[in-house]
Amino acid sequence: MTLSVASTTTRTTCPYCGVGCGVLATPQADGSVAIAGDPDHPANFGRLCSKGSALGETLSLDGRLLYPESDGARVTWDEALERVASTFKRAITEFGPNSVAFYGSGQLLTEDYYVANKLMKGFIGSGNMDTNSRLCMASSVAGHKRAFGSDTVPGNYEDLELADLIVLVGSNLGWCHPVLYQRIVKAKAERPDMRIVLIDPRRTVSADIADLHLPLQSDGDAALFVGLLAHLANAGVTAPGFIADHTSGVDAALLVAEDWTVARVATATGVPEHAIALFYDWFARTEKTVTVYSQGVNQSAAGTDKVNAIVNCHLLTGRIGRPGMGPFSVTGQPNAMGGREVGGLANTLAAHMDFSPDAIDRVGRFWRSDSIATEPGLKAVDLFAAMGRGEIKAIWIMATNPVDSMPEADMVKAALAACPFVVVSDMSARTDTGVTAHVRLPAAGWGEKDGTVTNSERRISRQRPFLALPGEARPDWWIVSEVARRMGFGDAFGYASPADIFAEHSALTGFENDGSRDLDLSGLIEADYASLAPTQWPVRRASRARMFGDGRFFTPDRKARFVPVLPPPPFAPAPGRFIFNTGRVRDHWHTMTRTGKTPRLSAHYAEPFVEIHPADADRLNIARASLVRLSNRHGSVVVRALVTDRQRRGHLFSPMHWTDQFASNGRIDALVTAKVDPFSSQPALKMAEVEAEPVNAA
Ligand code: SF4
Repeated sequence: MTLSVASTTTRTTCPYCGVGCGVLATPQADGSVAIAGDPDHPANFGRLCSKGSALGETLSLDGRLLYPESDGARVTWDEALERVASTFKRAITEFGPNSVAFYGSGQLLTEDYYVANKLMKGFIGSGNMDTNSRLCMASSVAGHKRAFGSDTVPGNYEDLELADLIVLVGSNLGWCHPVLYQRIVKAKAERPDMRIVLIDPRRTVSADIADLHLPLQSDGDAALFVGLLAHLANAGVTAPGFIADHTSGVDAALLVAEDWTVARVATATGVPEHAIALFYDWFARTEKTVTVYSQGVNQSAAGTDKVNAIVNCHLLTGRIGRPGMGPFSVTGQPNAMGGREVGGLANTLAAHMDFSPDAIDRVGRFWRSDSIATEPGLKAVDLFAAMGRGEIKAIWIMATNPVDSMPEADMVKAALAACPFVVVSDMSARTDTGVTAHVRLPAAGWGEKDGTVTNSERRISRQRPFLALPGEARPDWWIVSEVARRMGFGDAFGYASPADIFAEHSALTGFENDGSRDLDLSGLIEADYASLAPTQWPVRRASRARMFGDGRFFTPDRKARFVPVLPPPPFAPAPGRFIFNTGRVRDHWHTMTRTGKTPRLSAHYAEPFVEIHPADADRLNIARASLVRLSNRHGSVVVRALVTDRQRRGHLFSPMHWTDQFASNGRIDALVTAKVDPFSSQPALKMAEVEAEPVNAA
């Protein structure tokens, strides 16, 4: 099968990480596609990382789902859509709206997300639309809301180049946000006085540019930043005017922090006192400080508290809302931010609005629906647990692979196998989740999709198509709208194009917004969607071009809130067990449905592995490159030993990419606990405990 191509260069956006790099895609006469970084895109200015530059190698139709299937047999779109609509309607009639659910993905475009969320929350009347972004940044969302009254990311990428101190917390930018890392490398080369501190249990590649690495015990971050708050207060490094005029709750936060001396922090984190003192001194002395954090902070049972412990330090020093400073949560996925904007999380409604009575009324009137959901739905872990108890009668999974990516993944696999009706819409025919589906719907992939994504600095960019839709694949927004129409909601889903959907979304963000809500894209309504340049929000009010630059937040009194944080006790696994950390490698993305197609990207790491400290490997007779079994009560995997002192003693690390499609016995998330943060319900994907043993050849 050959690809149908256009003849000119298309400006689009990379479908991998939350940096959101601009890409120039130029189909060639031989059917290949030349890929280059977009020199005019303000996220990357022409740069691409290894994954982005290999995008052209991932576009073959090998492994694509090209036709609708029902019980494994090819059917027409009409048959598939009718079955989905009628089965969901029957479940809703018989068991109520909360018996059905959608589970989406940061791979969905904003327009896709908007329509799915509108159908579930606006017309089916259930809050049960959650997303794999729950696994990625829900703790940052919850932390932002507690501190700022809204899920507003304060940071801009240029702040990283303007800063004199960058603190990377639980964030391996070098591999997970590589172009952002390249921008920092360049800035540091130009300004050698710039300092970088890496806070991570592992000595990752990001340590290469760090002036100081604090290899703290997993989950020691809260103690480290609570101690920093106490240090700043004791040293008098505070911003009294900013605190008085623009914040509340400082006394309560300091009261909880006051006992956290450097000595106590050292005990809680396992980091020597002198290193902690040096970090605290640098932070205290450096006005232009940006604290960047991602999954090492978010994927924790104390993730939200960690976020607020970091934000507290920036509020105390008034280092927020000004160039070169601020707390900055970077998102993992290409459109995690867009999903947040349209209500992809089960606890949000739409347009960054929660389920408050005002918002329910406002959104209901805007959508002209009297059946809008009135309360949050089930969040990812709770959703699949409810399914395991038989409470979910029908689920639609869009562009994601929870059988491999959810914690306690074997439980999720069993829950899906027992669910009466599973729909999967995906571009890939090969996912471990897809094989559980009763109906499979072929979705458009990157290069075929048309819509928008929002990156980590709130910049909206277009993903534009440069390939024809293969087989009978269709855009996600079209598929959802067609099901909505067949469920009887056609009047509200008569979209002709993604531009229609974006215009409606933009209008909703501005609907009855008196300035008390952060997201207002209504200035984009008149923009030419087809030629929309990368646009950072806020877009309307020039005085607020930098979030919080005017010192006004989105709480009722417009003041940021300090949150008292009590650090959790150090995690102590059972004797003989390791603390098990999971994450990513440089050249693969999620469950490898795209990156697994190119041998070049698999050359970096060819198979699943576990990093183990040499002393631990010696103690267990685990030889370099031998096979190791990792196990706990949730499951067991066999992976290759990578013996390295980059790893702390007593800690292990494995990447999460490999699935049953690529390596049997390699589904890492089968081992991960489904324990969640109490505020965000984000699972602690970096904090399992496992046993390790050599697998001896027979
Ligand atoms: Fe794509 Fe992220 Fe790499 Fe940029 S840094 S090219 S967005 S994977």
